[in-house]
Amino acid sequence: MDYLDKLEAHSIYIFREAYREFKHLAMLWSIGKDSTVLLYLARKAFFGHVPFPLIHIDTSFKIPEMIEYRNKLARELKLKLIVGQNKEALKTKQTFPDDNVDRITCCKLLKTEALKNTLSGQFPRYRLDHELGVFVEDQDKETYTGVIVGVRADEEGSRSKERYFSPRDKNSDWDIGDQPPELWNQFKTEFALKTHVRIHPLLDWTELNIWEYIDRENIPVVSLYFDNDNGKRYRSLGCYPCTLPIDSTAKNVKDIIKELKSGKLKNIAERSGRAQDKDGGGTLEELRREGYM
Ligand code: SF4
Repeated sequence: MDYLDKLEAHSIYIFREAYREFKHLAMLWSIGKDSTVLLYLARKAFFGHVPFPLIHIDTSFKIPEMIEYRNKLARELKLKLIVGQNKEALKTKQTFPDDNVDRITCCKLLKTEALKNTLSGQFPRYRLDHELGVFVEDQDKETYTGVIVGVRADEEGSRSKERYFSPRDKNSDWDIGDQPPELWNQFKTEFALKTHVRIHPLLDWTELNIWEYIDRENIPVVSLYFDNDNGKRYRSLGCYPCTLPIDSTAKNVKDIIKELKSGKLKNIAERSGRAQDKDGGGTLEELRREGYM
């Protein structure tokens, strides 16, 4: 086995543990490279079928190409796609792009609150109906108790503090100082009622591993990751008012692998183009403690 095979095998093991332990399981799909690799790993773990819904929290400010790609792939792979949104905040324009709140508040409303309430079933869940070809309100309102997330430890400081099975309390809060140890691949999967567990099959993967796996498995990704003849590409995808591309001439997956191996980006944080990470004095960990992905 090479190192990608080992990473893949461990991730598949985590997936199967999660499926065995959690009756109401879902996976977050941000449309980015990591959660799309997660999607393809899930298909490998369950022989081409994804036996749980994929949840996308739509802030309504995502780069349009991301939404086109999401819907196209969901149709092609016949995924159970659930979209959650904080409609009240959008209706009352309590957003940063509308100039009414700061970025941190906007992220809390459009991402954290939307996620919490979609997971708990308090907000409507919109499911892609493959026969009708449109989104319809899902009748399943049950709380998801296991949530698979494409977090990688090397992506950003607070993510390196996650466990493979990382508990959240009934408010989705994360107590970093009180997490179970995970020794010898023994995971604690029983937690108190009304809490949920975030499951992280990609914790040991690096940015380079992700791109190497995309290359090896021929996984389709949003073309925003590639230079479109303007010397710029997105290294991390998000909302268009808060996400900037980096200087890069990488036009395909192999170019990105070469660029990462060259060390050109080694002193530049992967999420350096994400403005919300820097607002309020670098409070991404604070956001994540309160339930942010
Ligand atoms: S990334 Fe920007 S637009 Fe998106 S939720 Fe956060 S502040 Fe709002």
